[in-house]
This record gives sequence, C-alpha cells and structure tokens, in this order.
Amino acid sequence: MLKKLISLLLVCASLLSIPVALAEEEDPLSVFAIRHGRRDEKKIAVTVDDFFNLDWGWKIRDMWQEMGVVGTFFPLGIRILPEDGPKWQEVIDAGIEIGSHNWGHYPMGKSDTYSIVNSLGRTQQALDAALGYHYQINSFRPPEGNIKDGNGSSKTFRRGVNIFGYEHVVLWDVSQTNPELALQKVQNGSILLFHTRKKDYDCMKAIIPQLLEQGYEFVTVSELLEFGPNEISSELYVYNKADYQQK
Ligand SMILES: [Zn+2]
Repeated sequence: MLKKLISLLLVCASLLSIPVALAEEEDPLSVFAIRHGRRDEKKIAVTVDDFFNLDWGWKIRDMWQEMGVVGTFFPLGIRILPEDGPKWQEVIDAGIEIGSHNWGHYPMGKSDTYSIVNSLGRTQQALDAALGYHYQINSFRPPEGNIKDGNGSSKTFRRGVNIFGYEHVVLWDVSQTNPELALQKVQNGSILLFHTRKKDYDCMKAIIPQLLEQGYEFVTVSELLEFGPNEISSELYVYNKADYQQK
C-alpha cells in the first residue's frame, strides 16, 4: 500500500513538474532579450556600440549634449582604456548611460558560463579602473545579438549573464544608418542601434532633431526598459577563474 502511495505521489510529482519545465522552456525569449520598450509611451533610446573608433564616440557624446539628448553607450571592455577615464567621466556627466558590450566582441551564444562571467567582469573592472570608482553597469548588449548555442538554445548564455546579475540583455529594433529609413522605422519604445562611425554620426545628426520635433523623449536604455540596479554582489568582483570557482 505504502509503495503504491509513493509511486502515485511520484507520478503526481512528475506530472506536475512537466508543465513547469515546459513553461520555462516556452518562456518567451523576448522577455529576456529585449528589442524595444513600451509601445504606448513616446520614449526611445539611442544606443552606440563597440567604440572601435573612440574619436567618433566622443563626437557623438558632444553632439548629443548639444542637442540635449541622452542615450546609452555600449563600449567593449578592451576599448575602455585607463587613460580615457576623464573622457568616460564626461560621458557620465552628459547624462549618458554606460552599458557593457562584453570584453572583446566575440559572439557569446556558444560560450561557457565561466567565459561569460569573466567577460562581463573584466569589462566592469576596466570601466571602474578608468573612472577610479565603481560605476554600476546595469545594461548589457551581447555582440551581434548572439545569444544561442549550436542547438538554438540560450540556456547556458542566460545562466552566465544571470549569474553576473543581469536579468535581461538589450537588443534593438532599429538598425539603420539611412536617415529616411531610420525615421520610417522609429516608433514608441524603439531602441536604435548605432556604431562609432561617420555614417552613423551623420544619420543621428539628421534624425535626432526631427525625432525631437515629433515629440519623442530620449532616455537611456535602463530608463526605457525600467531596469532596477543590477544585483551584482561586490564579492563577484573576483574575475579570475580560481576565485570564481569558489563561489
Ligand atoms: Zn558590436
């Protein structure tokens, strides 16, 4: 009798666990990897990735400041150099958010958990070292929007960024350097993707005044997506492998 009861309980448990597992599987990826904000508010976030060319980055910063808009920069860790601390400070002083674009621009979908945490950690460390204090990076954009492994799963990637404290990653819904096409595509909640290049600078110069005229409010990605402060514990500030494995 007891055996029967136990096996019945086990069957019940397994039946119960199936829908839970499915629900996790089916959890829409769009909630984790976000392409845009709310469509019912006239807010948008302009973003600039990579910073392979720092000069264009600083020019974009100055242009935004002159135009009275803000947004989010997603530099690579390797591009945040110690001697550029004052430049990054000017970015912060201009009200621009600094996000992370990983350390070296490799696609992360197939990376293991350690590599992901290490890449995010080194990037945060580079920024802190340049600034001389801890600036909490709250938003992360994976290079090329790559978040899936060879089997089309983003589980490992997701686990890595979650361990580091990010609940979401930031993608985009407008990637266009032709001003006319860019203007056609922008809508409420849009996240615009640009890079540190002349054609991107020129496109922003053309469209930002028009978008302002259309009544769009320019906000940072964290504000658009209502991100709370990242929950990275200060203990996670150990990015060498041995330390990480102790966690
Ligand atoms: Zn990139």
